[in-house]
Amino acid sequence: MADRDGKIWLDGQLVDWREAKVHVLTHTLHYGMGAFEGVRAYNTSRGTAIFRLAEHTRRLCRSAKILGMPMPYSEDELNAAQVEVLRENGLESAYIRPMIFYGSEGMGLHAESLSSHVMIAAWTWGSYLGEDNMVNGIRVKTSSFTRHHVNSAMTKAKANGPYFNSMLAVTEAKKAGYDEAMLLDCDGFVSEGSGENLFIVRDGVLITPDLTSALDGITRRTILTYAREMGIECVERRITRDEVYIADEAFLTGTAAEVTPMRELDDRTIGEGRRGPVTEALQARYFDQVSGKRDDHADWLTYV
Ligand code: PMP
Repeated sequence: MADRDGKIWLDGQLVDWREAKVHVLTHTLHYGMGAFEGVRAYNTSRGTAIFRLAEHTRRLCRSAKILGMPMPYSEDELNAAQVEVLRENGLESAYIRPMIFYGSEGMGLHAESLSSHVMIAAWTWGSYLGEDNMVNGIRVKTSSFTRHHVNSAMTKAKANGPYFNSMLAVTEAKKAGYDEAMLLDCDGFVSEGSGENLFIVRDGVLITPDLTSALDGITRRTILTYAREMGIECVERRITRDEVYIADEAFLTGTAAEVTPMRELDDRTIGEGRRGPVTEALQARYFDQVSGKRDDHADWLTYV
């Protein structure tokens, strides 16, 4: 990733990709106190557009607030910077990674006078969980690693540190031959995937875990909006892993993962073992929206 042409926005300046470096004593590298976003831009018939940019930037600023990190830039400045990064790199479609992190001004947990830094990089990134899987669905394994307790990691923040938990989970699942992990919360209820929210469909009702331990995903919000518009009943409540086993359909949502059907959980076939009709309808609407083929929710697309 480090060795390529292009520009990265770092503290208000566009710097050469290869020169966008930090010191080994960068505080966030040691203790994981930082926050980031994952945002996608799509190539539409009217040019490149960033999907739900304002919501992502707001979540980044809120994550920083939860962590008590001073954010040196306004939301407007951060939005403009993300547009600038896409333009500067000439990207038609991209994954955008903004992050706020502490610098190397001090070490130790009692460090004072740490300053916040912000970086924004963008690169081309295709289908996160595989193109075929968008149709056929992925095989998921319940993780042996528990999602963070709500009062240990702040689950409303998309904070850097807690992602080691996601990496433990997804690495375990991949080594066992699965595509993705599903994590349970401290009480044993379904929380989310390593980097995605989870939905099931049962008897025509769309059910997703409440946000106690799962990230307030922007794709999750999009899907709930669509489902309500389509007259599908939506329920946000605790769900158990065996409810997923006997669901008619299940899918994961995330900016990277988009809308990815699940065909199996723990070697149990879900529904017909392929993308179900509700999943397909919601997924189609999502892809039509992000690629600018729908007229509604026009404010969700920021044209570059
Ligand atoms: N949960 C976790 C743990 C994630 O990392 C992500 C990806 N940001 C999501 C859910 C989905 O969030 P979003 O739809 O905003 O990308």
